[in-house]
Amino acid sequence: MNVMQPFAWVGAATISQAAAAASGTVAEAMVKHTGAAGPEAVGILKAGGIDLLDLMKENLLAPARLVNLKAIPGLEDIVSEADGGLRIGSMVTLARLGEHPEVRSRYPALADAARGAASPQIRNVATLGGNLLQRPRCWYFRAQEYRCLRKGGEHCFAISGENQYHAIFANRPCAIVHASTAATALVALGAAAELADAHGAVQRLPLEEFFVSSQRDPQRENVLQAGQIMTAIRLPPLPAGTRMAHLKQGERDSFDWPLADVAVVLELADGLCRRAAVILGAAAPVPHRAKAAEQVLLGKAITEQIALQAGQAALEGATPLGKNSYKLPLFEAMVRRARARALARG
Ligand SMILES: Cc1cc2nc3c(=O)[nH]c(=O)nc-3n(C[C@H](O)[C@H](O)[C@H](O)COP(=O)(O)OP(=O)(O)OC[C@H]3O[C@@H](n4cnc5c(N)ncnc54)[C@H](O)[C@@H]3O)c2cc1C
Ligand code: SF4
Repeated sequence: MNVMQPFAWVGAATISQAAAAASGTVAEAMVKHTGAAGPEAVGILKAGGIDLLDLMKENLLAPARLVNLKAIPGLEDIVSEADGGLRIGSMVTLARLGEHPEVRSRYPALADAARGAASPQIRNVATLGGNLLQRPRCWYFRAQEYRCLRKGGEHCFAISGENQYHAIFANRPCAIVHASTAATALVALGAAAELADAHGAVQRLPLEEFFVSSQRDPQRENVLQAGQIMTAIRLPPLPAGTRMAHLKQGERDSFDWPLADVAVVLELADGLCRRAAVILGAAAPVPHRAKAAEQVLLGKAITEQIALQAGQAALEGATPLGKNSYKLPLFEAMVRRARARALARG
């Protein structure tokens, strides 16, 4: 039986305090903890704790300190910005995000994604920041006995193993799918992450650049550095005539990560598509932009025939593994359905 290691509790009152106490990233700490170096006296940030405590219970991580973000003022705010965008604090729960009137009316794809993730109980605790920063669900990664590439080992066990829930795009050298459902919608919406450090420096980075492909670095999912706090997600203003939807398909009718999810954002003017974002979730190590599908939609009236072509084009570049080619027709159909849902919203 796994026994959680003792840790100290640090209640941070400010972003600077939290950033100063957070001496490591979860990715670096896990590589050390699961390898020969063993645990080190690292301080790790805690939001809702859903993913973090899971990793600690499975003895994949044993931080010396947990740095609680809950008492820091302002991180739970949702505020309209002067440019017409929306700033969502990183400690806003998925439940609140999914129900927030402005999110539901102006960015319904994000509300769909938040409401479709996990169970009501988990959504009441899980925060947006923690959701975007949760670690992958790959079962080899989550099992102590497999020291795979992402934990500092030499092999990916999934590529030739049990890979039914794994990536169909960009799946070498590691075949995880990005675990966050909110990320699919946020990348489609052109959202940016706001990152702050202990000295008050704030960096704004498009989420698409925040996430890291497995080719670039198979041991981390994002560029967050030790001592950086994700303070907020910023959504840009969207022109009138923008339609959107997010759809999630699970394995069964239960509270689980998706087999596939799709976000579509279409900017329409005079009946034609002026901008299209088609993002596939649970498809690749990062939210996957289906560029060929976007090209099919651009400049056209979005008819069923065009949507059919876009669904097919969304699969361009796919390299399914031994047990996950079922995802190809699934994504093809979901792109079509997401377009229909977005247009039906009128
Ligand atoms: C049964 C079940 C079903 C689920 N289904 C889904 C699903 O369908 N879709 C989905 O997306 N997720 C799903 N989840 C995952 C769940 O949504 C995440 O575990 C949760 O959102 C994590 O948020 P948290 O606030 O608890 O983060 P924590 O566990 O507290 O933190 C997660 C990570 O983020 C870091 N962190 C947190 N906040 C910050 C911050 N502000 N700045 C810097 N670092 C930070 C922590 O150090 C940690 O590494 C499911 C979980 C369960 C148990
Ligand atoms: S897919 Fe990635 S996380 Fe899973 S076994 Fe392979 S290297 Fe490890």
